[in-house]
Amino acid sequence: MNYAQHEHHEFVEASTEALADATLQTALVRLTDTLLAGNRRGYAALADSSELRDHAKAIKEHTLSHLDQYLEQLEASVHRLGGKVHWAATAEDARRIVVDIAKKANCKHAVKSKSMTSEEIHLNPALENAGIEVTETDFGEFIIQVAGERPSHLVAPAVHHTRESVARVLSKHLGEDLPDDPKSLAMVGRRVLREKFRRADLGITGANFAVAETGTVVLVTNEGNGRITTTAPRVHVAIMGIEKVIPRFRDLPVFLKLLARAATGQTLSVYTTMITGPRKTGELDGPDEFHLVLLDNGRTNILATPFRESLQCIRCGACLNACPVYRRIGGHAYGGVYSGPIGSILTPLYDSVPLNPHLPHASSLCGACQAACPVKINIPHMLIGLRELQHEYKPSRWEEWAYHLWSWALCQPWLYRWGMWAARLLMRWQAVDGWLSHLPGPGSEWTQVRDFPAPAAKSFRDLWKEMQT
Ligand code: SF4
Repeated sequence: MNYAQHEHHEFVEASTEALADATLQTALVRLTDTLLAGNRRGYAALADSSELRDHAKAIKEHTLSHLDQYLEQLEASVHRLGGKVHWAATAEDARRIVVDIAKKANCKHAVKSKSMTSEEIHLNPALENAGIEVTETDFGEFIIQVAGERPSHLVAPAVHHTRESVARVLSKHLGEDLPDDPKSLAMVGRRVLREKFRRADLGITGANFAVAETGTVVLVTNEGNGRITTTAPRVHVAIMGIEKVIPRFRDLPVFLKLLARAATGQTLSVYTTMITGPRKTGELDGPDEFHLVLLDNGRTNILATPFRESLQCIRCGACLNACPVYRRIGGHAYGGVYSGPIGSILTPLYDSVPLNPHLPHASSLCGACQAACPVKINIPHMLIGLRELQHEYKPSRWEEWAYHLWSWALCQPWLYRWGMWAARLLMRWQAVDGWLSHLPGPGSEWTQVRDFPAPAAKSFRDLWKEMQT
C-alpha cells in the first residue's frame, strides 16, 4: 500500500509505516512545533482572544441554525453581482458541474489554488479525464501533485516533505539537478507556475468564507497564487462547502483575526482576496464568468445530529498541530482527505462510520485540539460520540461482557478493593524499573508498541486514609 497516494481504511498499518518513516518524523517535528508555537503566540497576543473565539462560535452556530436562509441570501447576492450559483448535492454532482462549465467555455488549461473541498470531491482526475490540464499553484500542493501524493495537512499540504525531499521530487519532475535551499526551490516553482498561469483559461479556488449579505467570496492565502488564479483566467469557479457561509460583512473580521493566528500565528495572512462576481465594465482584471459551487456532500445529514458542531470548522489546521497522535503519524495515515482530530470526525461522517473503525480511537482525548481551535469545537466529545455510534453499528459482545463485569465489581466495594489490591501487587511484582513490558489478554496490544507504567506503591484510598489520621 502506498498510503501517501491513495485514500484507504488501513489506519493501523499506515500509522506503523508512518512511525518508521524517518523523513516524515523529521518534517513533522520541524513544522508542527513551529505552527503550534505560532498558535499559542497568536492567541496570547490578542487580549480578548477567548471572547473573540466565543463570538466566532456563536456566529457559526447562528448561521447553522438558519443555514437555508443564509444560503439563499448568498445565492441572490452572487446573482446580483453577475455570478452564477450551482447547487451540488454530492461530490459527483460537483465534479459534473465544474467539468460542464469548463467544456461550455472551451477551457483546456486550469490552474487551482489550494482547496480541500476540491480534494474532497476528487476534482483533478475528473478534469483530466475530460481532457483539461490541471496545475496546482500553491507551492505545497504543486509539490504533492508532482509527487503523485495527497495533502497531509489542512494548511500545509506538503508538511510530510523536508526541503531535501522537495528538491528530489522537483529535480526528478523537471529533469534538472536542483539545490535543496528553500529560496532556489521557490524560484523554480515561480518559474514553472508563471508559465502555467499565462496559459490558463480556467481558475479554480475554494472559499474560506462567503458573505450572504454581499455575495463576497473570501480567500485567505500566503503565496498570492489565489489572486492570479481568480483574476488572470477568463473563467473562475469557486467551490465551497455550504457551512462556509457567514451572514454579514461585519462578521468577517472576527474570523480573519482568528484564522491566521490559529493556523500559523500570523496576525493576518499575507493575502486576503475578496471576490465580488466577474469583471465589470471598465475593470481591467477579473474573469468573464464567475461560478460558485455550493457543495453539500453529506453536510445537511450532520446538521441535526450531535456532530453538528463539526460544521463550525474553519479548516485552520490548529487541532492537527496540537494533536499528539497527528504529530507522530502525520496526515496520510488517517486515510481520508481530512486528517488529524477533525479528520477523525469528518472522514467517518462523510465516508462511513463502520468503514473507519480506528479513526474515532486515534486520539488520547487530551483536549489539546479543543484548546487550539479558534471556534472551540469540542472534538473529544464528538470522538466519544462516534465511538458510541460504532458500538450501535457493530456491538462488541466481549466489550459488553467486560463492562457488565466492571459495573458489577464497582457495585461491590469489597470486591473492587480486593481486585485493585491484587492487580497492583501482581503488576508491581512483574514490573522492571517501574514499567511493564508485557500485559496479558487484550492489554497485550498496548505493550506490543509501548510499556505500561506500574501502579503506584500506595493507592489513592491508602493515601486518603493516611491524610485523615
Ligand atoms: S476543528 Fe478547529 S482547530 Fe481543527 S481545523 Fe477546524 S477550526 Fe481549526
